[in-house]
Amino acid sequence: LPDPDVAALTGGDVDALMPRPGAESDKYRRGVLGVAAGGDQFTGAAVLAVGGALRAGAGMVRYAGREGPVAQVRAHWPEAVVTPLDEPVIDHVGRVQAWVLGPGLGTDDWAHELAARVLGSGVPVLVDADALTLVARDPGLLRRDAPVLLTPHAGELARLIRAERDDIEAARLEHVRRAAAELGATVLLKGSTTVVAEDARPVRVNLTGTSWLATGGTGDVLAGVAGALLAQGLSCYDAASCGAYLHGLAGRLAADGAPLAAADVATAVPAAIRAVTSAT
Ligand code: AMP
Ligand code: MG
Repeated sequence: LPDPDVAALTGGDVDALMPRPGAESDKYRRGVLGVAAGGDQFTGAAVLAVGGALRAGAGMVRYAGREGPVAQVRAHWPEAVVTPLDEPVIDHVGRVQAWVLGPGLGTDDWAHELAARVLGSGVPVLVDADALTLVARDPGLLRRDAPVLLTPHAGELARLIRAERDDIEAARLEHVRRAAAELGATVLLKGSTTVVAEDARPVRVNLTGTSWLATGGTGDVLAGVAGALLAQGLSCYDAASCGAYLHGLAGRLAADGAPLAAADVATAVPAAIRAVTSAT
């Protein structure tokens, strides 16, 4: 018998949920995503997250970060509005409707302070990668009223809920549900299948991926894609599940039976959207 607490995500679901621009749209109303990612060690994560967001329909992507990644993001994405940060503050990064926090950010005091500022804002925040490490160390960071979407792989989730990675892999649905309940957040657990949990909702399972996605940087692209959907007004639950579906399908289209690089996944996101959405 099918489990009523589990739902496989379909292209029809994504078609029904995907935002489309209309005559009344402008770049601000389509959704402004802030990206707080990248550090002097991992500049590429910022480039990939911004790329995923631009390809998933954000009206504007605002990148805020340190010198190294700022130069890289500027060089790769003239479309992004880039704010170099001397101090870990974001008050002057205006109009942001959702944030992606964490890919390549580092876990030093500067990163912790920036995470505290972003999570201290009143808009939805997607927390990934290094920001998951910061939150595991300092759970008080998650005390906020606005929505939180956590996007761990099994190792990151293990630290967040103090479980063993192997136990999580052996019972992914059970652990993702537990994490959502304990952390009071929407949780997207990555892996060969990706599952999305939120209290009192069925766990959504995404099957569109391909094992070619098991390569560095693809998770950063996913953060950008799901973040762009959050900024466009989707709930954490819908942004996570549509993001996982489109990212997985983009991976399939990019790979087509051969290796892909993470940037190829971002490039293929519009084709994935085209494949599942009907004209309006
Ligand atoms: P990360 O763990 O942050 O590097 O993200 C890796 C991305 O690749 C996630 O979207 C995973 O769901 C996806 N992924 C990793 N391994 C596999 C696999 N074996 N099959 C399908 N997708 C995978
Ligand atoms: Mg990652």
